[in-house]
Amino acid sequence: GRVVIPQRRHGLHRDGIDSCALKVTDRLHESGFEAYVVGGAVRDLLLGKHPKDFDVATNATPEEIHRLFRRSRIIGRRFRLVHVMFGDEIIEVSTFRGGGETVTDETGRVIRDNAWGNQEDDAKRRDFTVNALFYDPAREEIIDFHGGVEDLKRKKLVMIGPPAQRYREDPVRMLRAVRLAAKLGLDIDGATRKPIREHAKLLENVPAARLFDEMLKLLFSGQSWGALMQLREEGLHHGFFPLLDSILANPQGTQFLKLALENTDARIRDDKPVSAGFLFAALLWQEVLQNWARRKARHEKPMPALFAAIDEVEAVQEEKLAIPRRYGTVMKEIWMIQPRFEQRTGAKPFRLLESPRFRAGYDFLCLRAASGELDQELADWWTRFQSADMSQREAMLVKDS
Ligand code: ATP
Ligand code: MG
Repeated sequence: GRVVIPQRRHGLHRDGIDSCALKVTDRLHESGFEAYVVGGAVRDLLLGKHPKDFDVATNATPEEIHRLFRRSRIIGRRFRLVHVMFGDEIIEVSTFRGGGETVTDETGRVIRDNAWGNQEDDAKRRDFTVNALFYDPAREEIIDFHGGVEDLKRKKLVMIGPPAQRYREDPVRMLRAVRLAAKLGLDIDGATRKPIREHAKLLENVPAARLFDEMLKLLFSGQSWGALMQLREEGLHHGFFPLLDSILANPQGTQFLKLALENTDARIRDDKPVSAGFLFAALLWQEVLQNWARRKARHEKPMPALFAAIDEVEAVQEEKLAIPRRYGTVMKEIWMIQPRFEQRTGAKPFRLLESPRFRAGYDFLCLRAASGELDQELADWWTRFQSADMSQREAMLVKDS
């Protein structure tokens, strides 16, 4: 049923809501519509975290919403919704929808879902109870149909409805379960967790671009190492990270990946920028190394063998994960620049220092050294070389023999 939780019991104030989201809900209210802040924002505020974005749900149709906001546009096909623009901030406004006529494919996956519904329907079509909370900024009340506030207190991630069926409708929900649990520090409830392993294969039917988006969210969650380990525990990694098992069978590979992801997590928690290209370079580096080693064992020359390995790994990943070119290019440049760090004679180190990829390449080199793949001495040399003055640099150069 529809449970209304008053302000004194949940503690959220209207002031905690983004001012643009308030403009949207206020305007909709003035025009006689229902409007709530919904989903991740309410959940995050209850956890005392800063929401990434504020979504609004309403009983107004996309056309009605669009008519109320001069700077807005209707987007989406699978889910039609409205973007309301305030400067460079966008508030996503969606119409209550639910049940009714959803179109599914032969595996039960939902392909189209534009049947409007009421607030209760809208709660029910969402994934987890903690994601189905509505906040009414006018009354400062939370509307909770599925016990989400209680689950949040118990630190439980619970699927709404029968979990197995909800995973068949949308297999990405399995990845969301792992990501949200890791990011929010929640425990996946037993019944929600149980069907995941046997449904993991359904991820093969998900378009690569959507998998990539979800993977990117996971890697940028601030808990990427934990999330990746849990993905593996649930058997969800095979489709997009088939080599994870063999990497983790090797202590150096494990160490490399762990350092890379924990560095990333720390940067995200400190609000520092993280490059997706660097992250993919780290994720796939062990794959490059393995490929390179195979080639060297076949007596290919080291440098051409490395470049051939890079090309091969890149080609396979482009297909599997659909890594967009802007990230793929950076990833490849970071790999290609690595051999240049081993050349410490003449003008070469000076030229490398001027390379636009020097910084990322150097950070990557440090990870390789810290994981034991290369001698720490090399990374330390580059650390000193950067901060040295001109004459010290000259003195550091390794003399040609
Ligand atoms: P994040 O903090 O990563 O943004 P979020 O829960 O807000 O997490 P969004 O992808 O922004 O995730 O989705 C907004 C809301 O839409 C969710 O809170 C949830 O209610 C609903 N939702 C998103 N994806 C699904 C899905 N695959 N199935 C059902 N409901 C979903
Ligand atoms: Mg969100």
